[in-house]
Amino acid sequence: MENLEELRFVCKRCGNCCIDKNTIVNITYLDILRLKTGLNLDLKEMLEIIGFYVFNKKLTEETLDKMVVSPIESEKGLTFTGLLKNKSGKCYFYDKKKTKCLIYNIRPMLCRTFPFSFDLSSNLGNKATGNVKLFYTEKAKKYCPGIGSDSPVIKFENWIKIGSETLKELEKNHHFNENWNKSVKNGNVLPNVKHYISTIYKISHI
Ligand code: SF4
Ligand code: SF4
Repeated sequence: MENLEELRFVCKRCGNCCIDKNTIVNITYLDILRLKTGLNLDLKEMLEIIGFYVFNKKLTEETLDKMVVSPIESEKGLTFTGLLKNKSGKCYFYDKKKTKCLIYNIRPMLCRTFPFSFDLSSNLGNKATGNVKLFYTEKAKKYCPGIGSDSPVIKFENWIKIGSETLKELEKNHHFNENWNKSVKNGNVLPNVKHYISTIYKISHI
């Protein structure tokens, strides 16, 4: 973990995190529910804004365990769910002319937390952070001009609160996707992305 005093950030609205072709905008099932409600999307419309990104090689259990957002079994194999991107890698919801996110208030959890990532630690011994570790993502170090010595020191309490909520959501998402994957393996559901989304749509509240 970086020294907390060195964590500095202010968004410079460069859009790099929304247009990087190597960044998948991962979404959780809770993001899907928020998008459904916020944009009033039916199932067909939802499928039009989600990308299903298939792994082209078999992954080990260890690699799978380390993934921040768990993949799901689909008709094409193990797949990440994320917002759709165009061919150049730009997020479907990024308005390049206005340099802004068109769904800012309901943008996915991982967009809200960028450029930070979080982890749990039992012995940080720091009252300000509790047991949440906070650090820059590797992608942020590569292309986010908003981090670094020119930017103001972040408000730790705010970010630790966001980190704590994020870790809870990721855990919930992990269980949801794990149940889906188990159901597929047991033959209880077909590995079909449309069915995956319709299962999420049956959840009545977040
Ligand atoms: S890369 Fe950093 S500075 Fe640029 S838009 Fe994203 S968060 Fe803001
Ligand atoms: S949802 Fe918004 S913030 Fe997230 S990548 Fe797309 S344009 Fe950027």
